[in-house]
Amino acid sequence: MSSRKFFKEIFPGYGFPSTREELIGYRDYQLRRLINYAISNVPYYRRVLGEAGLTHDDVRTISDLSRVPLTTKDDLREAGLEAVSKRVVTSRVLEKFTTGTTGNPLLIRRTIREQLIAGQFWRRCLRYYGHRPGDHLAVISIYPFRSAALEPVRGLRRFAKFIMHNRRTHLDCRQDPSDILETLKRIRPEILIGYAGILALLGEEACEKGTGGWSPRFILSGSETLSASRRERIQQGFGVPVYDYYSTYEGGILAWECRDTGFYHIAEDHIVAETLSNGRLSERSDREQGEIIITNLHNFCMPFVRYRLGDYITWGPCTCPCGAPFSTLRGIEGRWMDHFILPSGKRIHPMKIYTGLHEFKDIGLQVQFEQVTPDNIILRIVPSGRLTEGMLDDIRRTIIECLSEPVRVDVEIVERIDPEPTGKYKIFKSRTAEDTAVTS
Ligand SMILES: [Zn+2]
Repeated sequence: MSSRKFFKEIFPGYGFPSTREELIGYRDYQLRRLINYAISNVPYYRRVLGEAGLTHDDVRTISDLSRVPLTTKDDLREAGLEAVSKRVVTSRVLEKFTTGTTGNPLLIRRTIREQLIAGQFWRRCLRYYGHRPGDHLAVISIYPFRSAALEPVRGLRRFAKFIMHNRRTHLDCRQDPSDILETLKRIRPEILIGYAGILALLGEEACEKGTGGWSPRFILSGSETLSASRRERIQQGFGVPVYDYYSTYEGGILAWECRDTGFYHIAEDHIVAETLSNGRLSERSDREQGEIIITNLHNFCMPFVRYRLGDYITWGPCTCPCGAPFSTLRGIEGRWMDHFILPSGKRIHPMKIYTGLHEFKDIGLQVQFEQVTPDNIILRIVPSGRLTEGMLDDIRRTIIECLSEPVRVDVEIVERIDPEPTGKYKIFKSRTAEDTAVTS
């Protein structure tokens, strides 16, 4: 594929792959380019691929990818500049730290061109839900990372805004929800984007105080798990469709919710997704769960090849019943959740506890589990009604049964649960967590 064809595929007005065959052809083409580039230019990958006996053109399609070793965040952190292409001038690339759960984030590097390409995949997602040129987007998140390295992009953004009539307002999610709602009523954006937790609180505010005749056309929720209860609260407050998307800084937009089926379309022309189950790579099949491994097909400056994100997914049907050419997910379970390490040293995905509590419907408006020490977990509840001592005892007992290990569970009834310094609410926090997650 020539570079002209490549641009036709990537940039708007030309269209993305529209059939499954085109998509697979493009994905394999891009995978070959990436692996060959990494072997030639990125010392870390030259070493690990060399150790696996791989050289140029050994990885030609996704089926050859199984020979490539996995990479963790720790591997890239230790590799430092060895994980960055020798062909880029590091002072000229964009830099951003991941929001590490253990205070040990990874510095990610990307060229301006790569950032623009990632932006096209994001815009495809927005257009799918009905974004139109000139729409005003309100993004409720932590304020975007700022550094001198981002100056060139800010200039480009201003230019892009001018060309595409894009309007975007950033609102700080650490503000009081009632203040955020007042701002929204004043600026009246057509599209609202934010973390699921803060959107749910805004939905409640909107139910109570009204929206003054304003409602967005649709709402996009990301970064945190959009539970059925959160979705309902958002929908009740604003009366418009709520869609979920899945993105990470390492991978950009990975998947977005299908309007028709509720499955998530995987951006297979942007990433290759695989899963690990019980520490082994698993075959993808409907309803199978595992830790997601991604290969970003457009980050050459600092490649992510078979990279462990630490999130958990459940596969959906191989192609979406709506007719879109993408494979699907049924759900993304582990977004920004710490994993708990029990007294025996066993690591567990805390969703196990959460799903164990499903029988206690409506235990609270908001809950948070914090593991203080391996044998002590605090459950904080912002109650929606009266919780009797008997109910609290039942909750404690259910958690202990889920864990099957000697753990003390303290329940605290609180008025509110504050977001983390990153602006995200965490359902699961652990002071004993490690960076990467492995299921038990
Ligand atoms: Zn679909």
